[in-house]
Amino acid sequence: MVRYRVLLVEDDPVIAKSVKLNLELEGWECVHAANLAEAKVAEAGGPLSLVILDLGLPDGSGLSFLKELREKNSRLPVIILTAQTDEASVVTGLESGANDYVKKPFSLKELVARVRVVMREPALRENQVRFGPLLILKESRTATVAGVQIELNRREFEILTYLADHAGQVVTRERLLDALNADGEVTDRTIDSHISHIRARFKKADVQHVAITSVYGVGYRLEDKSDVVP
Ligand code: CA
Repeated sequence: MVRYRVLLVEDDPVIAKSVKLNLELEGWECVHAANLAEAKVAEAGGPLSLVILDLGLPDGSGLSFLKELREKNSRLPVIILTAQTDEASVVTGLESGANDYVKKPFSLKELVARVRVVMREPALRENQVRFGPLLILKESRTATVAGVQIELNRREFEILTYLADHAGQVVTRERLLDALNADGEVTDRTIDSHISHIRARFKKADVQHVAITSVYGVGYRLEDKSDVVP
């Protein structure tokens, strides 16, 4: 049996106790840290399988711990626990490299299920596409640029995702048609109009550095222009 070692960073003793108990009932080992300082000690102390990370901690935000992990290239799966109901902290968490998040109040069953999913699928990260300031979350069908959500319809989302999956390459209309055309309703012309809608959405959201460039007679290319000095 795989014995997972989960680091639970949570300052609320009641929540910590019940989460720990439930993880242990699954047969997993749970190391508890009540603040950032303890979390760092625990992380340095031995191999972990996953981190469950509260954001509001007495000595700072869980996000700083997450950022430190990712800065040293740790791919340790992290599930954020957040009481902050605002979308922004969730988006920031996901952009900082969290694999999933659970909003408080949560059911222990749900949390355990999410831990299972994240453990089972290191590929969960593959459901995110990042290109410069653009972040696409395929599961929740959300696209953000530098944290600003871009409103897209289903087709526009699919097109942008495809371009992002092949960022920097010229994607021909034929390839886009092949990729999108399960039901035969997309034509060359509709692709062009979807692209102009995405551009309009980018403009509306004041997106600065990511652009869909037309390559005349061939197709489109998603470009990161953040290195370009105006
Ligand atoms: Ca807290």
